[in-house]
Amino acid sequence: MMLIHCPVRGDELIPERRIHSLSNTDHGILMRIDCYCGRRHVVRTGRRALQTV
Ligand SMILES: [Zn+2]
Repeated sequence: MMLIHCPVRGDELIPERRIHSLSNTDHGILMRIDCYCGRRHVVRTGRRALQTV
């Protein structure tokens, strides 16, 4: 489980199985998450704090 900030629903706990994909970038790891609100959010993780793009 991980905590993300959903722009629609606020903070949400998301299980790993809702992660759509992961990609490594120079700025950290981008996770595409199928959120409970029905949208797909891109979240950056890694050294920096979780941040919804
Ligand atoms: Zn959402």
